[in-house]
Amino acid sequence: MSKLIRNQLTGEWIVVAPRRGRRPIHYGGVEGCPFCPGNERATPPAKLIYVRSDDGSIHRFRDEDDARRSDWLVRVFDNLYPIFSTTYEGVYGYHEVLVETPKHEDKPWSISIDQQALAIKAALERIDILKLDPNIRYVLLFKNYGRSAGASIEHMHMQIAASPIIPPRVELELSSYRGECPVCMLIEESSLINRYDDILAICPKASSKPYEVMVTSIEHKPDIPRTESYIEALARILVDVMRRLRSILGEFEFNYWLHYGLTRDHHWHIEILPKTSIWAGLELGGWIYVNAIPPSEAAENLRKALS
Ligand SMILES: [Zn+2]
Ligand SMILES: [Zn+2]
Ligand SMILES: [Zn+2]
Repeated sequence: MSKLIRNQLTGEWIVVAPRRGRRPIHYGGVEGCPFCPGNERATPPAKLIYVRSDDGSIHRFRDEDDARRSDWLVRVFDNLYPIFSTTYEGVYGYHEVLVETPKHEDKPWSISIDQQALAIKAALERIDILKLDPNIRYVLLFKNYGRSAGASIEHMHMQIAASPIIPPRVELELSSYRGECPVCMLIEESSLINRYDDILAICPKASSKPYEVMVTSIEHKPDIPRTESYIEALARILVDVMRRLRSILGEFEFNYWLHYGLTRDHHWHIEILPKTSIWAGLELGGWIYVNAIPPSEAAENLRKALS
């Protein structure tokens, strides 16, 4: 049984979730990978899968009862070791895993743009469904990539955590909107990496780590428009940023998350934090971050990276 506790000193939330300690770890190839096609029985039934039909169109299915389909392109299911759950006693919510590709060998920098777009589309679709639950206050989409980033499984996946509380970080961002949008200001003041249509990637002026990247819209928008072309543009920028980071950092590990707006003031963005430094006493104890590479220099290196 899990439990939600608030730290009265800082306002931070702690979920005590003993089941999380029992997560299996899988690195080292296709053999025994619970997220590879054919091994669906190692995970709960899919709540959503995308399947391509003979004419090329994408269809949605879910696993019914005991059946498991293995011809999927993207697969979403309940996390076996949930932080939030509707089915066991504990903190109410949803905690889903989204396998982004059937190909075990795909990496964030080598995945095709079409495939990445399908994964993003499925993630947004799940967010929209989970948001309909009146007990859910926020749905956080995030990705942990690599052991040092907290991923227990190597195969590319994202996680969706629908929680009964608004994450304090999101609340803090909301409270920073005073007449002018801080994300719009950040775009003005930060160094550009690349842009495509309405979406750009920047190294934020106040990057807390070397090579921190923010992906967001040029126009002020509280959320990502749910159109094929917009999602395709987002996938294009995301994969491009990953390729640039990869060419500078090698096979890097990272976390990213999506913040969408709860009000019209908020401006959606994805924050990408490569594991380029270790947060220590000053960062953890003071929220004062030491960054050895100026964001303007990081952006310049990233701009030049693939040329
Ligand atoms: Zn796999
Ligand atoms: Zn804005
Ligand atoms: Zn944010």
